[in-house]
Amino acid sequence: MKRLEWLLCAALLPAYAGVTVTPGDGENLVIRGRLVLAEQESDGRLVLAGDRIVCAGADCVEPAGATVLTVSEGYVFPGFIDAHNHVAYNALPKWTPPKLYQNRGQWQRSASYKAFKRPYDQLKKRGLICEMVKYGEAKALISGVTTIQGSPASRCLQGLVRNAENPQSGLLVSSAHVRTFILDVGGAPKIDWNETSAFLIHVAEGVDADALAEFATLKAKGLLSPGTAVIHGTAFGDEEFRQMGAAGSKLIWSPQSNLALYGRTTRVDLALRHGVPVSLGLDWNPTGSDNLFDELRVAERVNQQQFQGAILDRDWVAMITSHPAQALALDDYIGELRAGLKADVVILSSRAATSGQSLLDARLRDVAAVLVGGQLLYGDNDAMAAAGRADCDALTVDGAPKRLCAQTPKTPKGEQRLDDIRAALLKVYAGVAPLAP
Ligand SMILES: [Zn+2]
Repeated sequence: MKRLEWLLCAALLPAYAGVTVTPGDGENLVIRGRLVLAEQESDGRLVLAGDRIVCAGADCVEPAGATVLTVSEGYVFPGFIDAHNHVAYNALPKWTPPKLYQNRGQWQRSASYKAFKRPYDQLKKRGLICEMVKYGEAKALISGVTTIQGSPASRCLQGLVRNAENPQSGLLVSSAHVRTFILDVGGAPKIDWNETSAFLIHVAEGVDADALAEFATLKAKGLLSPGTAVIHGTAFGDEEFRQMGAAGSKLIWSPQSNLALYGRTTRVDLALRHGVPVSLGLDWNPTGSDNLFDELRVAERVNQQQFQGAILDRDWVAMITSHPAQALALDDYIGELRAGLKADVVILSSRAATSGQSLLDARLRDVAAVLVGGQLLYGDNDAMAAAGRADCDALTVDGAPKRLCAQTPKTPKGEQRLDDIRAALLKVYAGVAPLAP
């Protein structure tokens, strides 16, 4: 190729984040690069000690002997938070609904869905819930998710990504701190707000009067509260969002799953108009996106086509970091790059001049490194090897060589590697969804 052509090509290609590792002999870890802080983006340093951030910004001093990760052509984000999921279902492939529905009761009762769900029941019956959850966690981790909502109560949950409702998630919260309710709102439990700070509940998942009527039930049960996070709210209009805004409630949005099931999604433009904080969640693999970046792109398409761009560039980062941390009442621990919070970090290749646009353009290969509680659990093969994690599982994601540390010694079945988990699932069900399609 002629030099000029080569230069033109190079200019059009996205820059890939380089993570150079300089091993140290001390306890600290330092990440040098472009930090995505709550108020602004800034070139600086992130200093980690154990599982915590001790300094984040341009003025941080590097402790002597620290291991240093130098990031070029990339952004250093807080770990992403998937505000709503059904993690154990993510071993299932896509479900193509035979038609669009009006509310969630309709498809849940359908013969098509019942047939689709059979492998889930079989996998569970064969005692593979640990494998199912960990597979879902691995699927989340490769897109930079460090905390996920929607895992079943289980002793398996410790060591990979944080499971929001689970007290074993490495956060000093009780099992009642975050509560989730997935059944009909009419059966919702009474919440003791002294012990529960976040209550996540499916409300108005659908587009008809039955779905909308769930809002009245939520209020009648005294559950329209600052600690309440409504999952979906698809049937809501201006008045419902006005009341949510006045009550200080939060919204969790899963556009792709809504569109696949109902042909329509939540009026997030109205939610924003009334000051309701919005978080993004993938819902689940069967009708949701394959990964967080795809879900962000679906959200952006809806934003342009239906919301007149009401969601601004800076909102995208908040929807997968600080907003879900607040909706889950875990913002004392996660959701920002700030001293005192957990060292949950994602390093992503830069594809655009802002972190928000870069997120919308991101592919799975762009996830250069993911740390949960200061532990490097996933990343580019070279960086992982240089950081002493060459023993983790090799895999190819979106054409790029990566490593993922699936082993979690403290949990039941924690010795399993990614291939063991996949093999155990495939033995029962040949249709297991790929980790990275
Ligand atoms: Zn759900």
